Amino acid sequence: MTQHAIAIIGGGFSGLSVLAHLISQATAPFSVYLIERSKDFAKGVAYSTSSMAHPLNVRAKAMGVFNDQPEHFWEWVEQNKQHPLLTTLTLNPDAFLPRLVYGLYLEDLYQAIQKEAARKQIKIALVSDEALDATRLSSGKLLLQLRTGNMPAVDFLVLALGAPPAKRLSFESAELLKHPNYIANPWNPPQHSILRDKAVLENQKVLIIGSGLTTVDTISSLAERHISGEIICISPRGTFPQIHQKNSPKKALPAFCLEDLPKTSLKLLKAIRSEILAAKDWREVIDALRTCTQALWQRLPIDEQRRFLAHLFSFWNNHRHRMAPACALTIERLKQEGKFSMKSGRVVHIEPISSDQLQATIKTHAETYTLLVEYVIKCTGPEYAVKHQHNPLLDHLHQKQLIEWDPLGLGLAVTEECAVKGLATGQIYALGALLFGAKFETTAVPDIREEASTIATTLLKKFKGLRC
Ligand SMILES: Cc1cc2nc3c(=O)[nH]c(=O)nc-3n(C[C@H](O)[C@H](O)[C@H](O)COP(=O)(O)OP(=O)(O)OC[C@H]3O[C@@H](n4cnc5c(N)ncnc54)[C@H](O)[C@@H]3O)c2cc1C
Repeated sequence: MTQHAIAIIGGGFSGLSVLAHLISQATAPFSVYLIERSKDFAKGVAYSTSSMAHPLNVRAKAMGVFNDQPEHFWEWVEQNKQHPLLTTLTLNPDAFLPRLVYGLYLEDLYQAIQKEAARKQIKIALVSDEALDATRLSSGKLLLQLRTGNMPAVDFLVLALGAPPAKRLSFESAELLKHPNYIANPWNPPQHSILRDKAVLENQKVLIIGSGLTTVDTISSLAERHISGEIICISPRGTFPQIHQKNSPKKALPAFCLEDLPKTSLKLLKAIRSEILAAKDWREVIDALRTCTQALWQRLPIDEQRRFLAHLFSFWNNHRHRMAPACALTIERLKQEGKFSMKSGRVVHIEPISSDQLQATIKTHAETYTLLVEYVIKCTGPEYAVKHQHNPLLDHLHQKQLIEWDPLGLGLAVTEECAVKGLATGQIYALGALLFGAKFETTAVPDIREEASTIATTLLKKFKGLRC
């Protein structure tokens, strides 16, 4: 009997979560190919950090991989509290534990998944390669083209590609991108010598462009290396993400009733503001919106979604994706020591001056000035516009009409089950950041695991259909 097969492209949290749900729900054998272009399976970009100074931005009790067991990670922590890394930490379910520890959980889980798969006679093949294209064969199966060649055809494809790279800035010339002290991707450790080499930080100026959670991570890394120079952070608003409360409120506000909420971004803002005025803490209102954020987004007409992204997105991000209290303390300490300053403005140009100096031109409402620095680290947001990402796999699938962009062009158009619309609807699935346009809030663990569970349930049902 031929064995049915699924290929999951992307071995980060999303890919692992789909695999975990598939294996735990499966009752009959099949094959899974997990295709990952980097050397690391399971941890992905967010949880591969080697620094204890990078905390999760979601509480331990909500970080489980399984959709029906949000406390799965916390239970693992309790079972592993004798681990040398864990004995140094204050452990409680409300804590923002290091992402390094979460990476250990994912590695352990991956081992457990492999054992369960072997018991259920499910084959898991790890493929260290990059998926570049897929073709639909006359048999109806999908043939994947990898950088090093083809692999056996599969019945279903899951796209778990993670967040797109950062937007290319207008002044990023080829010369600048090659400059050793210009770090265009803070998640790329090989380039990131500044964050590894302590000596290099003595009395040097570091300019960080952006002020989101990536910036917060970068500052934590620099602080961990005892920077003795100065960090200057520039962003249009000049504000950091808000800070989580140390403990979650004893009694959460009830979730919003969707029908009570308006369908324009301005009216929504007003409604949320009036809830905040009546609440004890604004965070409780933002958190109560969590369960209906995707539905709220999907109810907005396209023009209103555009308006929201243009005028309210950064405000929402700043309040919704908050930093852990420990990071806020680090930033405050650096400020007190005169090693950190935040300025509002736009970096409009960067010119390499020498092999170890760069000159940044900064524009504010009042003036344009230049700043001479030793390092520039770009921590700006991802390029969501899918046609500007130049992703070979997505571009090829789109050219063949196997996938469709969402109406805003910020990712893929999908059904409720996360099936990508196009000529192969029902065969290609996607989750995580690729669903930004379709679902809006789709990159945190609680959102991804829900999508992973839906995809796994749908695929296993389809396998049953194929066998009949
Ligand atoms: C620094 C950081 C910290 C975060 N912290 C938290 C947190 O505390 N809590 C939380 O809930 N969320 C957090 N997030 C959100 C995060 O997006 C998710 O938690 C999750 O890690 C996303 O996983 P992913 O698998 O979708 O993406 P990734 O981890 O990026 O994995 C995608 C993988 O796909 C591979 N890939 C892509 N294209 C191809 C291809 N064509 N062929 C082969 N392989 C390919 C990539 O190499 C990559 O390994 C954080 C994100 C970042 C960046």
